[in-house]
Amino acid sequence: MQARHYINGEWRDGDGWVDSLDPASGERLGAFAEGGEAQARAAVEAAAHAFEQPGWARNPRLRQQVLLAWAAALEPRHEALAELLTRENGKPLAQSRGEIGGAISEILYYAGLARHNPGAAMEVAPGEFSTLFREPAGVAGLIIPWNAPGVLLIRALAPALAAGCTTVIKPAAQTALFNAAILEPLLALDALPAGVVNLFTESGHAGAAHLVASPRVDVLSFTGSTATGTRIMQDAAPTMKKLSLELGGKSCCLVFEDADVEAIAPRLAAAATIISGQQCTAARRVLVHASRLEAMKKALGSALAALPLGHGLKPDSRIGPLIDHRARDLVAGQMDQAQQSCDQVILAGGRPDDPTLRDGAFLTPSLIQHRDSGAFFCQEEIFGPLLVLESFEDEAEAVARANHTEFGLSASVWTRDGARALRVARALRDGTVWINDHNKLFAEAETGGYRKSGLGRLHGFDALMDFTELKHVYQSVGTV
Ligand code: NAD
Repeated sequence: MQARHYINGEWRDGDGWVDSLDPASGERLGAFAEGGEAQARAAVEAAAHAFEQPGWARNPRLRQQVLLAWAAALEPRHEALAELLTRENGKPLAQSRGEIGGAISEILYYAGLARHNPGAAMEVAPGEFSTLFREPAGVAGLIIPWNAPGVLLIRALAPALAAGCTTVIKPAAQTALFNAAILEPLLALDALPAGVVNLFTESGHAGAAHLVASPRVDVLSFTGSTATGTRIMQDAAPTMKKLSLELGGKSCCLVFEDADVEAIAPRLAAAATIISGQQCTAARRVLVHASRLEAMKKALGSALAALPLGHGLKPDSRIGPLIDHRARDLVAGQMDQAQQSCDQVILAGGRPDDPTLRDGAFLTPSLIQHRDSGAFFCQEEIFGPLLVLESFEDEAEAVARANHTEFGLSASVWTRDGARALRVARALRDGTVWINDHNKLFAEAETGGYRKSGLGRLHGFDALMDFTELKHVYQSVGTV
């Protein structure tokens, strides 16, 4: 398999090839074209030229047709794409199938919204009219991560296209083959004008940095870590471009005394180990009422220990490898440090003993208990299967602990008391709060972060706002 650059309506070779590996086995899957600033520059020029033509930015019906045709072309490839996603990213096949289904559904959602772009008109004084137009913002640069490269590509690209932007996509090196494969049926459409969608790959960051710094890129949408998001905000400042930043998180699950601990423990375990803990909204801290702490230790420790590790294509695997060996070693080090400095290790995690998993980037999950929410493992995002258990005495302490973080992405509240659930949900400073559930994400519902979890919203109608500008047109026509 090969993934090449796609610039101004044609596939192009790069500056050599970079291997893509299966993180579960180390097996070579194929190669992507090396690129960098030159490819980014050419892609931005193509997108800027395409934006100046009326054929795309002014034609919402064409935009809808293109999105519908892309979704239709993906349906018969659903299973093949899910398998490729599992091979390149490592996640279990059931998670990959769900991701492809969610991505197709989201393209359909934005295909509908492509034709729903209402503005406003008002008579501000007799015979004087103010009209507000929502216009496409221009060229959108999209930097997409590897952890959910299907749905995170679509939740940025589909609203950008629906809004009428032209685009340059820079996928993560780790999932470049998958991103080329999911884009290929879109790029093959005769109805898609050249330059509207451009794609380049790179093993480094020079091309991505060009998208950030170029004054010809009007919107930069980045999903990734808070550290890189901060750097992007600094580097983009001289251009004043619009920024959509979907960054890190440290999700808390607040479990009250009336919750059924034995029933919810397996659901918390699944929420913590989704994509091997490499999801921004994965459960990281479980805050449980003190009266249920011992029961939770037992139930959650057993639930985590029961999850089988293995290649994502094996039907019984519930936890696949981390994205690569470098990530595995980084997280293993953080896990070791946390296990050495916490109050209690309930389930020790780390490199598995199983010799059949030796070549893969696997880590078994870890559960630790700690009182001080200022500890580094309660504050820093650790992108792997590490879960921290803390206890609280009352609702106020639960909320204070959960809000003791620089992030604000997501949280969940577990209780049978409906009034408490809503009261606590409102008190939490997070962009998403689930009640008696976790990790429920939909095309229709906006997600995004408070504080250092980012800027703007993706998914839902509001995602269009990240890719549009609002224009006021005034005209005095007098009265009859
Ligand atoms: P990362 O911050 O390492 O981002 C890597 C990407 O940034 C690569 O594409 C790289 O080319 C690019 N990059 C690096 N330096 C750059 C620079 N100076 N200018 C422009 N681009 C640059 O993150 P990651 O490891 O790919 O992803 C994991 C992170 O993503 C986690 O923190 C996770 O929480 C976050 N995430 C957030 C959401 C969300 O919705 N909030 C969703 C998924 C992942």
